[in-house]
Amino acid sequence: MVHGVTARLEVAHLSKSYGAQRAVDDLSFDVPAGTIFGLLGRNGAGKSTTFSCILGLTRATSGTAAVDGAPVDVRTLERIAYIPEVPAVYGWLTGQEHIAFWRRLYARFDTALARDLAERFDLDLRKRARALSKGNKTVLALVLAFAQRADLLILDEPSSGLDPVMQRELLTLIIEAGAEGTTIVFSSHAIGQVERAAERIGIMGKGRLLLEGDLDTLRAGHKIVEATYPGTPDVASLSGRRGVDELVVDGALVRVRTSEYPDGAVRALQEQGPSSLRILDLSLEELFMQTIAAPPALRTN
Ligand code: ATP
Repeated sequence: MVHGVTARLEVAHLSKSYGAQRAVDDLSFDVPAGTIFGLLGRNGAGKSTTFSCILGLTRATSGTAAVDGAPVDVRTLERIAYIPEVPAVYGWLTGQEHIAFWRRLYARFDTALARDLAERFDLDLRKRARALSKGNKTVLALVLAFAQRADLLILDEPSSGLDPVMQRELLTLIIEAGAEGTTIVFSSHAIGQVERAAERIGIMGKGRLLLEGDLDTLRAGHKIVEATYPGTPDVASLSGRRGVDELVVDGALVRVRTSEYPDGAVRALQEQGPSSLRILDLSLEELFMQTIAAPPALRTN
């Protein structure tokens, strides 16, 4: 099998209950080979449990996960690199010793790449892991995971604890690996980073997948129209107008989310003589907030 050309992840009706609580509730999604998939959700939404069930580290109550049609088991695991939420490194081993160990564990492990990545992330491989800062422990885990040359990378909040420079470097690395054909599934609370790297996204809430799909397509159906007024706008006359799906009023600023071609919303806002008006693409942050909150049609900040 050629590296990186096939690693389609298929998750079907995955559920995990802890007692009466459904941590993961009937989750189904596909990640096509070579795709970068970002999983978003509030704390406790079920992201880590989902990853853990996909990998078989937690036994799913029901449902399946498959890579290229084969269930995830010992043979498939060779093709997967995983970084848990709390990265697992051995405190008493140095970075060099980790590399030597990982080389024995994984047939495809690329020692030269590991050294290059360590240099790129400014990681001192001579230090024992316990002597590394929290962020640098994560960097070590990232170096090991990427050097595994896996077909599928599953990264649970990989940027947490990294400084802004490292976060940017990691994002570049994710995008590069994706361009080379690696399938990457990662979770993050940094929505801006997911927006930059991910081609497909999933948004989880209370164990369920609330929204999933191609990011550009999801955004394409929505626009934001923003207007400012010299005086106080007549909010009542705006709400309920065609094209005004959601209205947020913040003093003289009025923001309208519209799910159709924004003509209707623009007309409604223009009627009251705005001092400025602009049409914006829906950001992933707005899509996220809208998905998890299902906000009321009118909100005054
Ligand atoms: P975060 O963003 O905070 O990391 P998450 O989306 O990764 O959250 P999970 O860690 O998957 O969420 O947790 C989902 C739910 O399952 C939570 O309500 C959590 O309390 C519960 N849960 C997770 N692991 C266990 C466990 N071992 N025993 C009982 N409940 C658990």
